[in-house]
Amino acid sequence: MLVVMQANASEQEVRAVCERIESLGLRAHPIPGSMRTAIGITGNKGAVDLGSLDSMPGVVECIPVSKPYKLVGREVKPEDTVLVVPTPSGDVRIGGGALAIVAGPCAVENHDQAFAAAEAVRAAGARLFRGGAYKPRTSPYSFQGLGLEGLKILADVRKSFGLGIVTEAVDHESLDLVEEYADVIQIGARNMQNFSLLKRAGRARKPVLLKRGMSATLDEFLMAAEYVMSEGNYNVLLCERGVRTFSDHTRNTLDLSVVPAVQRASHLPILVDPSHGTGRRQKVRPLSRAAVAVGADGLLIEVHPNPDRALSDGLQSIPPEEFQLLMSEVRQIASVLSREVN
Ligand code: PEP
Ligand code: MN
Repeated sequence: MLVVMQANASEQEVRAVCERIESLGLRAHPIPGSMRTAIGITGNKGAVDLGSLDSMPGVVECIPVSKPYKLVGREVKPEDTVLVVPTPSGDVRIGGGALAIVAGPCAVENHDQAFAAAEAVRAAGARLFRGGAYKPRTSPYSFQGLGLEGLKILADVRKSFGLGIVTEAVDHESLDLVEEYADVIQIGARNMQNFSLLKRAGRARKPVLLKRGMSATLDEFLMAAEYVMSEGNYNVLLCERGVRTFSDHTRNTLDLSVVPAVQRASHLPILVDPSHGTGRRQKVRPLSRAAVAVGADGLLIEVHPNPDRALSDGLQSIPPEEFQLLMSEVRQIASVLSREVN
């Protein structure tokens, strides 16, 4: 259910409606828009008995939301969400025309490797650095990440290069730490339906980058984002990273058609990750160009100073020179579409 407020409704009127909703044992989510505020209602098991809600001062109407997802959908918020990520070198905007490039190694391996990657990322003009301190690996014998030591290296990168930090949390314990150190909390594909972790991310004070599960439908992907938002964290950034198919020429099949599908259904920004989406170094730049052309709100790219020596995902990591080229191609395509690389 959605309560639409008048364009000139006062703050007190919005607050009074929220209090009435909460007094019914439900949760109110005020969503300011350019024209008016709407208030999403969640927490109801069936139809909401609104009582006299629609006759309260400032209320235009109460309308049912037809989709299974509520806060994520355009019915509740027609305008694009523009995420603002504060970094030491100023705000990075994602969505609504602003493209964000998130880049860095799959895993933080040591101080020198992370600093060399950060140097390359900054030199090419990207402003968000991503590196895993906690790695969800298929094999328990593979490199699992440096944990807290990795987060501390990321904090040094942040300070030394002015880059915002994006890093993955794999469970509740790591999320507590990631929330403290990172500017954006990544939830990986394998955790897209870890509902208790999604709820914990929904209570975090930092934006969440949510990757699509490798077999998730559009609705499942959006419902995962709904879990985060329903707990009160509205700063969610979606990321397409490829799905499992019969194709064996790539690690995954990058589903670029999900970008316009997400943008039609939801106001949330969506990034594309051609690194995991293809798993092959030589396919990352072509698919990056395609992702920008299809209208993605940004890219997530694995960049490593020496990909052949990488401790994880070396096959899909590109070296600094290639990343530089990728950025210049992406800028050209973005400008044709009147979009700006942030
Ligand atoms: C990653 O981003 O390094 C990662 C493990 O990605 P995904 O969750 O998409 O597999
Ligand atoms: Mn990786």
